[in-house]
Amino acid sequence: MPINENLVQEIVQEVMAKMQIADAPSGKHGIFKEMNDAVAAAKKAQVEVRNMTMDQREKIITCLRGKIRENAEVLARMGVDETGMGNVGDKILKHQLVADKTPGTEDITTTAWSGDRGLTLIEMGPFGVIGAITPCTNPSETVLCNTIGMLAAGNTVVFNPHPAAIKTTIYAINMVNEASIEAGGPDNIACTVEEPTMETSAIMMKHKDIPLIVATGGPGVVTAVLSSGKRGIGAGAGNPPALVDETADIEKAARDIINGCTFDNNLPCIAEKEVVAVSSVVDELMHYFINDNDCYLASEEEQKKLVDVVLKGGRLNRKCVGRDAPTLLSMIGVKVPQNIRCIVFEGPKEHPLISEELMMPILGVVRAKDFDDALEQAVWLEHGNRHSAHIHSKNVDRITRYAKAIDTAILVKNGPSYAALGFGGEGYPTFTIASRTGEGLTAAHTFTKSRRCVMSDALCIR
Ligand code: NAD
Repeated sequence: MPINENLVQEIVQEVMAKMQIADAPSGKHGIFKEMNDAVAAAKKAQVEVRNMTMDQREKIITCLRGKIRENAEVLARMGVDETGMGNVGDKILKHQLVADKTPGTEDITTTAWSGDRGLTLIEMGPFGVIGAITPCTNPSETVLCNTIGMLAAGNTVVFNPHPAAIKTTIYAINMVNEASIEAGGPDNIACTVEEPTMETSAIMMKHKDIPLIVATGGPGVVTAVLSSGKRGIGAGAGNPPALVDETADIEKAARDIINGCTFDNNLPCIAEKEVVAVSSVVDELMHYFINDNDCYLASEEEQKKLVDVVLKGGRLNRKCVGRDAPTLLSMIGVKVPQNIRCIVFEGPKEHPLISEELMMPILGVVRAKDFDDALEQAVWLEHGNRHSAHIHSKNVDRITRYAKAIDTAILVKNGPSYAALGFGGEGYPTFTIASRTGEGLTAAHTFTKSRRCVMSDALCIR
């Protein structure tokens, strides 16, 4: 048989390329010096993942869920220590939520049409190697939740994480690969670089072996990804308003709002960032905030000082993001007991502490004449992010009007914002809410390509 020289050359090149993949230099699984090496390693691992049975993928995911549960506290402490943001107790809950409720392979389903002309299936296939960019606000939660979904769909993933959370991210990625190896899978199903930068991000985004980019972060990164020329899933910023009308149970609304707003020191992008309440309930709501929910009422002078510190030079001060209320108040020279959970005040919607997405437990309350006025102000405050909004009302018609007007990926009615993530609400969690590009709460099904598989005039056995 004649030798096909081209084929031989191709095989040799492929083998050489595989041999050139550098070992993870840090001794940790999936961690590389160069982005190109990280992508090459993830590509090699994806060939194996692609050929696995669904059952094998699920075994890796089960092993990873166990490791996340075991390491929930370690990861929570690492995240808080490294970024200075959030609190350990709530971060433990977030990791447990990822472990217990992130959808796995059961989210990959088949649609079928069977009839006289045969059988047609829509299969959900993997993209290959996904490039993912993650925020410092939920670093390991996002990496772990993304990995479960992406792997369930048959992909591997290369992360370019926020540099301020690199140690926590490396710990999480090493753990993912240990789980894979323990369950009989390949190393490098998730990879990253030791020092992520804008350059490594650009290499990843332009890489020929990365067909899909998933960005979780503020407006800058989502715009960058959507300008990359590749398919992009953009999970961007929010500024979720909580609307309260006179039909609501005000005592419960106050409790739900403060519970949601203070969860992990207000870091989640879905958390209540401001309240818009009809005038007749504002005083009652404030009463419950302050007297029953450990809130501190900031005076006008204190608000001005907070603006100077929190929005120093007109920019969000990272040193304030995810800090608790006593720490924030201490920055303006106000000492309060440690049980103070949130700083509240009343102000117009244009107040900088209300209109900006702060990600800290400062909650401004905007007074509205009536429901129509409240709806209009809430829509303005959401800034067209189409991310998340919340409402406390017993009037179904109003809730429907609000839902249509604000048009967000998430709308929680009569509950704390975190109900949207499956805490005290139905449904699955995610830390990548694709607000800008419309996929909504991402899960394994989001990370698939639709593939039609047609058998003509056969296999219909009805
Ligand atoms: P960030 O935008 O500063 O950083 C997010 C990631 O993007 C980081 O890895 C960062 O290095 C990278 N990045 C930033 N600009 C970039 C650019 N131009 N090109 C390439 N990469 C870039 O955000 P953060 O402070 O880490 O996180 C908080 C923000 O993320 C908030 O706005 C929050 O609402 C949003 N967020 C959204 C979701 C969601 O699911 N929609 C989830 C978490 C956080």
